Amino acid sequence: MSQSPLISRRKLLAGCAVGSTAMLAWRDQAQAQNEATATPGLPPLKISKVRAIATSPDRVRLVVVKVETSEPGLYGLGCATFNQRPLAVVEAVEKYLDPFARDRSADDIEDMWQNAYTSSYWRNGPVLNNALSGLDMALWDIKGKRAGMPVYQLLGGKCRFAVDLYAHASGREPKEVEDSARSYVEQGFRHVRIQMGSYGSGHLSENPDFRDAGFGLPADDHMDSGPYLKAMPKLFEHIRKALGDKIELLHDVHERVNPIEAIQLVKELEKYRPFFIEDPFAPEQNGYFPILRQQTACPIAMGELFNNPHEWVDLITNRWIDFIRVHLSQIGGLTPARKLAVLAEHFAVRSAWHGPSDVSPVGHACNAHLDLAIHNFGIQEGPRFSDKLKEVFPGCPEIKNGYLHVNEKPGFGVDLNEELAAKYPLPENPGFWTPVRRRDGTAVRP
Ligand code: MG
Repeated sequence: MSQSPLISRRKLLAGCAVGSTAMLAWRDQAQAQNEATATPGLPPLKISKVRAIATSPDRVRLVVVKVETSEPGLYGLGCATFNQRPLAVVEAVEKYLDPFARDRSADDIEDMWQNAYTSSYWRNGPVLNNALSGLDMALWDIKGKRAGMPVYQLLGGKCRFAVDLYAHASGREPKEVEDSARSYVEQGFRHVRIQMGSYGSGHLSENPDFRDAGFGLPADDHMDSGPYLKAMPKLFEHIRKALGDKIELLHDVHERVNPIEAIQLVKELEKYRPFFIEDPFAPEQNGYFPILRQQTACPIAMGELFNNPHEWVDLITNRWIDFIRVHLSQIGGLTPARKLAVLAEHFAVRSAWHGPSDVSPVGHACNAHLDLAIHNFGIQEGPRFSDKLKEVFPGCPEIKNGYLHVNEKPGFGVDLNEELAAKYPLPENPGFWTPVRRRDGTAVRP
């Protein structure tokens, strides 16, 4: 049975230093703010509840935030998916964001973002940013529903008719990668990411000594730089010969080799005209980007692990990268992402938002609405929506001929069937990245 907001806050504050007088003053202030900032022609809208809903139709740990309002039946959905730490995000939403946001205005998205962002004082981490993203995107969804418009209209309207995607082609050897890439080209994709095996192509390395030595766990993954670095130029050569020049090729180094090895690799791959090479360095090695830039004109994409502006501002304003690739929920939602897009536009850096399976359909829709509205859109990582996922999230964007299309419903246009979502609880494994080691057991990132 749900409790009234007032009772919930009273319970929450019981035993805290904050007294009931202060709490009631807080409520009065929130009420006054709601009345002062009501959208003209519309009654003030308040947040009545913020909930986290975890579901896993495809074994990926999705977290969606539902924001309910003082208008019966009017709610918004936002993506807060952090596949490796979903339980921590759920706790952050329910124990902190919900009591913080209740009774505050649902209209003033920027104000909410700024205050929720600093309400923990210490900020910019992935757990709190994902929780904040859930709230933020949900408020944009509500804003669209109130306006009777898709979110891309609120952002200024369309710059293009649909969102160009890239697909993931992979295989254990070049011919398998070719077959996989060819199947995507036949489906209409013009951009294909090519990978051999898992990131770093560990299957090309010999049996690692750390396992025989009993170091780490037998399930720990393995890769060595040498075989991977030798294989990638051969893969690009094979795919260019097999599929010609019309297709755009992408590749993700996934920060798995030493920086100087990555520089050698990017220089070698430049002649195959990649669309971009992604994550040549770990975020902790951002200082290598100017060194790389001086040596090659190969387009570089970076940023899926970024959490905050300290990590991207220098890379963009110094023109050291070509594509910014953040995960929208990881940086705190649509509000910071649209500012990032504007910053990047001034430096001719294009977008390539992170969009694999560990983004909910609400998050994919948010990516697509922003992609449609910004001039400096580059490319979108292509999602895959299983039939199960489409049932749980009615209104999923649609993939046609290598493009992503959003529907024209108000807001993000994606709903959540909570009853069905509950049939797919999170898997027992609470989420972690399997350790990757070099031959002697040294940990690789990641
Ligand atoms: Mg990546």
